[in-house]
This record gives sequence, structure tokens and C-alpha cells, in this order.
Amino acid sequence: MAVPNSELDRQFEYLTEVRQLLQDRFGDVSPKAFTHTYGCQGNVADGERIDGLLEQMGYEFVDTPAEADFILFNTCAVREHAEERVYGNVGRLKEFKKTNPDLVIALCGCMVQQEHVAKRLKSHFPYVDLVFGTHVQYRLPELLRRHLMTGERVFDLSDDDDDIAEGLSVRHSNRMKAFLPISYGCNNFCTYCVVPRVRGRERSRQYADVLAEAESLAKAGFKEIMLLGQNVNSYGNDFGERELFPKLLRDINDLPGDFLIRFMTSHPKDCSEALLDTMAACEKVENHLHLPVQSGNSEVLRRMNRHYDRERYLETVRCARQVMPDLALTSDIIVGFPGETYEQFKDTVSLVEEVGFSSLYTFLFSPRVGTPGASMPDPVSREEKQRWFEELQAAQEQVAAARSAAMKGKTYRVLVESRNKAGRLCGRSSENIMIEFDGPEERIGTFADVLVTEPLTWILKGELVG
Ligand code: SAH
Ligand code: SF4
Repeated sequence: MAVPNSELDRQFEYLTEVRQLLQDRFGDVSPKAFTHTYGCQGNVADGERIDGLLEQMGYEFVDTPAEADFILFNTCAVREHAEERVYGNVGRLKEFKKTNPDLVIALCGCMVQQEHVAKRLKSHFPYVDLVFGTHVQYRLPELLRRHLMTGERVFDLSDDDDDIAEGLSVRHSNRMKAFLPISYGCNNFCTYCVVPRVRGRERSRQYADVLAEAESLAKAGFKEIMLLGQNVNSYGNDFGERELFPKLLRDINDLPGDFLIRFMTSHPKDCSEALLDTMAACEKVENHLHLPVQSGNSEVLRRMNRHYDRERYLETVRCARQVMPDLALTSDIIVGFPGETYEQFKDTVSLVEEVGFSSLYTFLFSPRVGTPGASMPDPVSREEKQRWFEELQAAQEQVAAARSAAMKGKTYRVLVESRNKAGRLCGRSSENIMIEFDGPEERIGTFADVLVTEPLTWILKGELVG
């Protein structure tokens, strides 16, 4: 499962060589890198490790591709729209090669792990120099060295699952909130989803490695640690342990420090009582559960291969609210899964109203190459699906407005994140709802008690207490 130390040592030697090569090429001026990550938090966490490698190789980071000597897009494949954006943005980079012939253009992540994408990049995007998949990110020093020494295009799309590289340095993208991956890949094969195909089978990081990283993040002063996996509930199953995730939550909760714990994603089929009880018992674990339901209709769920039905999902929600009465639930929903009828879609609307989600991530079904969903008959037009989509959003807006209204007059502890465009401080409540309020700059990065005075649908207005 893990990348052997000898291999990591080898990469470190390449890294030192690249540093030297760059010094020879750029002299005293540091070479500049621009990196951009698309997609989910797991991809962001990968991007932070890649940035760590680039930093060690001597790159300094810039905010626009025009200033860069190395441009990297860390891509997403979950929906077609994400891929189209990448193709469009890569197309625009061709210009920069004309003014900076030494520019290196690199692509990595889920999208490029697909064979048909790699082929298209090879044939249609000759100015892309480096393409590497999700399993070999730690090999960036070796791949970049090869390109710098030979000028050849380098493609590495191997799909070896023994790819957990421990000990890489991380360049955090946020100074308050840290992402902590606990597992990679997925075993669930939902019929619409490309993730298991581009990320491989589920593999967990060793318990001691995760706990040690959490400890160092807490010591470094991070105020929020978000544990990441496609299905955090099955963390440790691959090394024969059951219910290891609740134990991990407890152990991280017991670490010294004033920080919050969030996690994503929790698959409803594996959301156990032990997890819910642990959440309720751990004061650092936020009062929020992201539990993607995808559909409110049992037949659609069966065809999605989700392994739960509407009743079981609602039962899990009931159990969760029994032990955490103020729990905020959020969810993902796919509208227009192949063969879904309007009546079946209406079951999703009624589930949304019944559960009362704080917020929803709603997606139109997007056919993904190689998934069973892509070849299922899909008779409903895009326009019709768009209408359903809007109907669902309108229903959720009402639900969210009612939830926000119920927060008026209550005080919430928030992590103050930033100042917004209106010049007010803002941060998220434990329930993951944005609250804005007036206050001094120095409160950014600290916890504050905020009284909700004016609840709007998507944001709450409030006042600092004390
Ligand atoms: N592992 C997580 C989700 C990963 S993908 C889970 O199981 O919940 C994030 C979300 O993207 C999914 O929850 C789903 O709602 C959406 N998604 C995935 N594949 C999709 C597709 N082909 N079309 C539309 N939405 C999709
Ligand atoms: Fe995709 Fe399903 Fe795995 Fe989530 S659980 S990553 S939706 S296959």
C-alpha cells in the first residue's frame, strides 16, 4: 500500500537534481510556479502536497499563469463541465509558450487518469509537457527532471495502488483550515461515478500516520482539521478493522489544542450508530454531517447502486437527530439520473423537505466514460432536467429560509475566517452556515461568539457577543 522509503529517497535525490537544474537555468532569480486545483477537497489536499514538492524544488508561487515558468492544472473528472473548463483553460496557455519558451505546462489529477483524455492531450495539445495521474504524484521530481533534461513530453499514468507516500511536505492553501486525507480511492462503484475508475480501490493511511499528522496540525495552530476520504466510514476496512473511524475521531478529539474537526464524505450505507454517538460525544467534532443522498426514490437509488433506500436514509437521519438534536445536515443530489421519471424526482423534493437540509449541492446527471450510467437509456431532455433542477432549488430555498429563521436570537461559536466585500467579518457556524458581523481585524483566525440578529436565506447577519 505504501510507497517504500527507498523509492521516496530516490525521489528526494531527483528533487535535489531538479533544484540544481533550475538554479543553472534561472540563476539567482527563483523560477515561478502557478498551480490551480479543480474539484473536491481531496484534490485540494493532493495539490497541497504537489505544491510542497515544487517549493522544495525551488519554485516560488505566483497568482497568474502569465508570470509563471511552471503551470500546473490539477484536474477533476466528476462531471463533464469540469473537464470542459480544463480543456478551455489549457488551450489559452499556448500563448504563454510563445513569450516564454522555457515554460513547462503540466496536467495531473482525475481527468488525465482517463485513457481517452490522455490520448486527446497527446494528439491535440502538443504544448502540454507533463501529464501524470492520481497514483504517481509523488514522482513529480523524477518526471520533471526527465522533461528538463531531455525536452521530451512525459506522460505517467500508471495505476498502481501501492501509492501512499508518507512524509511529503505540504504547502497549506489555508492558514486556518487544514485538509487531512485518511483514505484514497473508492470501492463503491455507484453507477454514475467515475471516481473508482480514476482513483483506484479504497486504501487507508496507517492509523499512526494520520494521528501524527493531526497532532502536528493542531500543534501548528490550525483551527480546523477536515478529515478526507470518499467514504470516511469505511476507513481501515482494507486492513481488516471495522469501526475504526469513530476511534480515530475520538483520538483526534483528545489531542490538546483549540480546534474543530470536520470530515467528508460519509456514505449513508455505512453511517453507523457508533459514528453518530462519537460525534455527539466529541466536543471538537462539528455539529454537521454531510450525508449525500443522491435521490429520494428507492428505485433510483437501487439503480445508482447506493445500497440504501429512502426509508433507511430517513431512519439514519432520525437516529442522528436523536443523539444530536441541533445537527445540521447537508447533502449531494443528482437530478436526471438516466431513466428517472418526474414522479421519482418528486420523491427527492419531498425527501429534501422532510429532512430539512441546511444546504444542498445539486448536480445535473453527467454521463462519464466507462461508467454503467453512461450507457443507460436516458430519454428525458436536458431542458426538462433543468426545469426539475430549478424546482428542487426552489424547494431547498424555502427549507433553508426556514432553518435560518429558526437560528434568530441564538448565539453560535464561529471560526472567524475573513472580511467579506461588505467589510464585515465572517465565519461558519458549527452547522456550516455563514454568519457575518462587525468586528476588529485581529479576530480573524480566532473563535468568536456571535448572536444571530437577521437571518437571510443563504447567510446570517449577527453581532459579536462579549
Ligand atoms: N464519495 C462521495 C462523493 C464524490 S463525488 C460520495 O459518495 O458522496 C461528489 C458528488 O458529485 C457526488 O456525491 C454526486 O452527487 C456528484 N456526482 C458524481 N458523479 C456524478 C455524475 N456523473 N453526474 C452528476 N453528478 C455526479
Ligand atoms: Fe463515487 Fe459512489 Fe465512490 Fe462516492 S461512493 S466516490 S459517489 S463511487
